[in-house]
Amino acid sequence: MGGSEQKFVDAAFHTNWVSSVGANIVDFENDIQQYLGNNVYATALNSGTAAIHVALQLLEVTKGDEVLCQSFTFSASANPIIYQGATPVFIDSESETWNMSPDLLEIAIKDRIENYKKPKAIITVYLYGMSYKAKEINAIAEKYEIPVVEDNVEAFGSRYLNQQCDTLSDIGILSFNGNKIITTSGGSALITKNNILKEKAIFLSTQARDKAPHYEHSSIGFNYRMSNILAGIGRGQMEVLDKRIEARRQNFSFYKDNLSQYKSISFLEVPNGSFSNRWMTCIKTDSHKLREQIRLELLHDDIESRPLWKPMHMQPIFKDFLHFTDGTSQTLFEKGLCLPSSSNLTESDLNRVLSIITKTPSL
Ligand SMILES: *Cc1c(COP(=O)(O)O)cnc(C)c1O
Repeated sequence: MGGSEQKFVDAAFHTNWVSSVGANIVDFENDIQQYLGNNVYATALNSGTAAIHVALQLLEVTKGDEVLCQSFTFSASANPIIYQGATPVFIDSESETWNMSPDLLEIAIKDRIENYKKPKAIITVYLYGMSYKAKEINAIAEKYEIPVVEDNVEAFGSRYLNQQCDTLSDIGILSFNGNKIITTSGGSALITKNNILKEKAIFLSTQARDKAPHYEHSSIGFNYRMSNILAGIGRGQMEVLDKRIEARRQNFSFYKDNLSQYKSISFLEVPNGSFSNRWMTCIKTDSHKLREQIRLELLHDDIESRPLWKPMHMQPIFKDFLHFTDGTSQTLFEKGLCLPSSSNLTESDLNRVLSIITKTPSL
């Protein structure tokens, strides 16, 4: 926590607005809007997964539709496609940003159109805080008139060519789960370009109540709104977001400065003009064997590290769905490792991690 969260939480208790309506929610949404700029509208919800689910409903994704989704991601990017009764089609990454390959995206779109299955939406991901090739992806999305949902959950504060990630396409998604760069314990924001979509998102996330003195429903709703207590935590966290980003970027610099001399380890570079929050510092090693050696050396000393995301097209639950892949994300999964990256790592923590990594015999 940053320090002033308690004050905002106390205000919710004192005013007795402890549920899904209250000043903290409005102010937290305003704080996010101000941070992102660009005239966007934020709707505070109770998880990133829920926000993606609402986004798909706003885009009228329904039973039988196909949705294109980055394969190299956490399962929560793809699960809401299934919640809607739609079918995911997975797209591989390119090796410069580790995110969605524009080439494979266009190949997939052409294939699906030829099969009379024009995709209803594209879900892109800013994995590990890195922006994807938004110019190329957006050009393709516009050419075929398919809306884009930006899963910006891991990249709050990152920028693509001086524009805040999350504001580059139709709908953006943030999460404030415990493992993200700022947290409300659990929560999210859905970012839209107009107030009509925001109002519809609030409607859907508060049980879809029609205007009537009694309870009247003409559509299916969800219980997805953020509580005023958690929004209070969010208000406090917004004050320290830039500090958290700075700490994460310092972790990255430390690892890079001290490990880039080893030819068997490489780091993801940010394209010129862009900015990464470096949510996680990830390395790519030159073999699965070396990756495992480093991971196990760290584990031996009680330090957790983790292989990069296992792509969705390799997951038991998703492996039978159509995918357009070229081995890029599979290689990253086999050879890549997330290093300890908390905002509160001390210099001695980092030195401890480093000394263990550099002890790995075959480095
Ligand atoms: C964490 C995460 C989500 C889900 O967010 P929750 O708030 O935990 O539901 C979605 N996408 C990505 C890429 C994530 O890392």
